[in-house]
Amino acid sequence: MIHIAVKANSPLALPSYHFVSNEIETLDYIPGSAFRGAVAYKLGEELGYDSPKFKEIFINGKVKFGNLYLLREGQAYPIPKSAKSCKYKDGFRGHGVIDFLLPTVKFMLAKDASVLPVSCPICEAPFDTFSGFYTKGGKRVEPTKRLITRTSIDERTLTAREGFLYSMEVIEEDQEFYGILDGDLLVIENGEIKYENTTILRKRETLWVGLGKTRGLGNIKITEIENLESIFPPELVLSAVEKRFSKFQEKSSPLNIKGFSITLYSDAIIMDKFMRYKSCIDEQYLREEFDLDNVKLICAFNSMRAILGWNTAWGLPKEKELAIEKGSTFFFSCAAEGKNLIGTLERIETEGIGLRREEGFGRVFVCDPFHIENLPQDWEV
Ligand SMILES: [Zn+2]
Repeated sequence: MIHIAVKANSPLALPSYHFVSNEIETLDYIPGSAFRGAVAYKLGEELGYDSPKFKEIFINGKVKFGNLYLLREGQAYPIPKSAKSCKYKDGFRGHGVIDFLLPTVKFMLAKDASVLPVSCPICEAPFDTFSGFYTKGGKRVEPTKRLITRTSIDERTLTAREGFLYSMEVIEEDQEFYGILDGDLLVIENGEIKYENTTILRKRETLWVGLGKTRGLGNIKITEIENLESIFPPELVLSAVEKRFSKFQEKSSPLNIKGFSITLYSDAIIMDKFMRYKSCIDEQYLREEFDLDNVKLICAFNSMRAILGWNTAWGLPKEKELAIEKGSTFFFSCAAEGKNLIGTLERIETEGIGLRREEGFGRVFVCDPFHIENLPQDWEV
């Protein structure tokens, strides 16, 4: 597993979606699909799009390219959707952040609304959703962005089309992002990431992601390449699934059930057998995909979003797809004597879930400590 860091040399425009508008918003991270597309373009030019190596890496998907999230005062993680904070003074350093996952499980089981916190413990203001990214240092972070205005270019004459202006939101330059490259045959040699003797990326190399290359947007530089024991952040590696699972049982003992959470670190595209997009990970999915029995979905904090389909190998747009949004959180109860439960949970974390995993989709955390580290103050245990 290879950890990389990149720096934006120029503003980045990473729209999530095809647009028909003169205002274009950017995502606040570099999606694995855009990063993979950039590397595919580079390698396609170097090796040839028909070369067996290129096909192996990109068509057979032998290398997974993760999303690149903000790297500022440490790595940033998507905030779970079960988090809420004071409407007027939010944040870890404001009136605090409360995770509603276990309280909601308790509510669902007891059917007693009094177990749910109703207002800010400090000022009694209502709660509001708390979204975006956070660092393990307890801070909400987001990349700085700005709007740029551009004239539209006439595709045929390559001159400005008079009167056609549009504004585009961009991530400002000089910010850093980090992510993971994952593949059995990947190694690092002399500052280069290699797939069986083929160099995929080099330190200090630059690539183009997103829109506006001809206008100088989207240039990123590889600043760090490092081998990691695991695809997971150091905080999670230190406590393996088994340990996190048992910590979870400790904290959820007021509920009198065994259970675990699955929290999406990146958007996940899940389809049922009739090719319909699912809005939820549920027990049926876990049974069919991972042979996990005797589990039951108790509660979910989830949302969906439309994403741009992009066939990187052919450079063609795909149809719109629907994904369960990163930060979505699910709690399952499980039988006391689940057969090899921990092993299966480890596999879910290692392999990820759903479609397009090679583009960074479907990365999950099992029993993310966030849910037990931000419980209401009067939570027993
Ligand atoms: Zn407050």
